[in-house]
Amino acid sequence: MSTQKSRFILPMEKTNSVLLIFTGGTISMGENPNTQSLAPLDTEQVLSFIPELKMLNINIASVSFHPLIDSSDITPDSWVQIAEVIQEHYNQFDGFVVLHGTDTMAFSAAALSFMLDGLSKPVIFTGSQLPVGVLRSDAKENLITAIELAAAKHENGDAMVPEVSLFFEDKLMRGNRTTKRNTEEFNAFASFNYPELAKTGVHIKYYQHNIHRETVAQPLSINTHFDNNIVVLKIFPGITANTVKSILNIPGLRGVVLETFGSGNAPCAEWFYELLKEATEKGIVIVNISQCRAGSVEMGRYETSVNLLKAGVISGYDLTMEAATTKLMFLLGKYDDTNEVKQLMTTSLKGELIR
Ligand code: ASP
Repeated sequence: MSTQKSRFILPMEKTNSVLLIFTGGTISMGENPNTQSLAPLDTEQVLSFIPELKMLNINIASVSFHPLIDSSDITPDSWVQIAEVIQEHYNQFDGFVVLHGTDTMAFSAAALSFMLDGLSKPVIFTGSQLPVGVLRSDAKENLITAIELAAAKHENGDAMVPEVSLFFEDKLMRGNRTTKRNTEEFNAFASFNYPELAKTGVHIKYYQHNIHRETVAQPLSINTHFDNNIVVLKIFPGITANTVKSILNIPGLRGVVLETFGSGNAPCAEWFYELLKEATEKGIVIVNISQCRAGSVEMGRYETSVNLLKAGVISGYDLTMEAATTKLMFLLGKYDDTNEVKQLMTTSLKGELIR
């Protein structure tokens, strides 16, 4: 996969500039009038459906994945590609909008938040539930507003939202807090454990106290290593020792996101405890997150999570599954030392968790 540059609107007397990064997804699709099936459009075609963009007082340029992909095909390599495009063009633009399929957008937004250090400009993910080329599509509103948000600045020139975020329907949310919550509604994303960064209606309301800013000003740098030797293990009543044993013994396994019940509870069965303990003693990092979408893990609150603590499982607090998996891959890619991974896993790096 490569990226291809294409300019859309040439600089006029416009003050701010935004780079669109097309990766694919429904937002970049149109209906083939002959077959009625959905197929990817090229960048120029997508933008031609939104002539209103010319009315914005913003210079817009674009870079596109080639070919555009459905977000089910996104991999850590795609995240590296997005990060490299941002780094390459960082000084030329005030903000970046990533057009992405909705299915894995929350993973990509979380991954990018961990990859980009020293970020002082907005990186906003958006997409749509209906293709840009069909009537009633939500693509137009989502894209226009995301571009406005990416270009927005304070009077002193600082970006309004200098973090990786996700805009959908009427909410700007911290990227690493989001989850795709609905396959059909336009209100497709939610941030269950963290309030919105901005809300759009007649006016755009920014909630300044919710917005993350890097405390030390430093040049942008990107981390590009991920170790995907991890697994998500979702427990259920009746799960067998055989299943858990085979998963924890996957050759090369380095990390497990353990999705437990309620506030972090799991069966008290001795075999379960023994298998987890054996795995952590081998150096596998096991992070406990909740199957509930809102709220936090509180290990030790019930007897059913005391064993997890004793087995060396660490708390993922209120991390989403998307943030937990991308953060674990990111930390395992960056550090060999398991203790360092565990320590950082339970520390907020980019506002992704509250202890
Ligand atoms: N399958 C599409 C994707 O994630 C769905 C979408 O964009 O809404 O690429």
